[in-house]
Amino acid sequence: MQVLEREWQTLMDELAAATSLSPLRVRAQAEIESIVGETFKAWPGLNGDGRVAAWAKLMTTATQSSQSMLPSCVSCGECCRVSSPTLHPDDLDLVREQKLPWNRLYTLRRGEAARSVSGAAPFVLDREQVKIRENSESHHCEFLTEEQCCSVHIDRPLQCRAQACWDPAQARELIGQPRLTREDIFGEVPALLEIIRAHEARCPFPKLHVACEKVATAQGDEQMAAAVNEVVEVVAFEEVFRTEAAQRLDIPDDVLDLIFGRSFVELVRLFGFRVDKGADGSRTLVPRDAK
Ligand code: SF4
Ligand code: SF4
Repeated sequence: MQVLEREWQTLMDELAAATSLSPLRVRAQAEIESIVGETFKAWPGLNGDGRVAAWAKLMTTATQSSQSMLPSCVSCGECCRVSSPTLHPDDLDLVREQKLPWNRLYTLRRGEAARSVSGAAPFVLDREQVKIRENSESHHCEFLTEEQCCSVHIDRPLQCRAQACWDPAQARELIGQPRLTREDIFGEVPALLEIIRAHEARCPFPKLHVACEKVATAQGDEQMAAAVNEVVEVVAFEEVFRTEAAQRLDIPDDVLDLIFGRSFVELVRLFGFRVDKGADGSRTLVPRDAK
């Protein structure tokens, strides 16, 4: 059975290479054909001749399927594995009604780098985006289950509904469209809006970026010490700001990344650093992977 699985996957890889689609998509469509499931089930009981005949049928079925891709989503999960969706104003009700729960969302702020679902090179954001969280290692959308299903399928956001791997033009139409912002989501909660604006004014992402760049370009011990100190101060200030704001407004920890974006403690790692805290509360900047 392992051999059949391996050969089947190799066939999918070869067929996908002849299309612009992923092997996962090609496989998901081929497996809609009942003959595929039936053959896998019958395989252990087949003798040599039976297996040769069954494999020939599988190849014919898969080849025909790959040559006539359905203009519809077969829920293969491929686009959910590339990255998570960015939300649009159309998704506001889903967010307000917590069908997309706040603790599963986060904000990418202006100046941060973002990856495009098309797989194009990362780019710097000129406006904020609210996104569904991604698995920190695989970058898969957090709503993608182990069975490669969407756990919020009925309530999936606009970008997911527009995904059409057989016709990329549909998703491309969304590029440049307005994005959902924190002002949209929390517009009716003045205290939150006020603290978000204060955080943006005092802890903008470019402030961290500039400070880290100074460390990268510092020359001599004195310049280096000043640059390191600046990064530590910028990170510490942001940490204190969000902690105090969370306590004052009773904001749960797991929605802070939506309200304020990711913390500088986390983001400083993007620049190759880490800020360690000593038992006495002192902070030290070290290389991200230092032991
Ligand atoms: S749109 Fe995405 S999930 Fe649907 S079939 Fe295409 S790649 Fe798979
Ligand atoms: S919300 Fe659902 S459809 Fe959209 S990327 Fe995540 S798992 Fe895929």
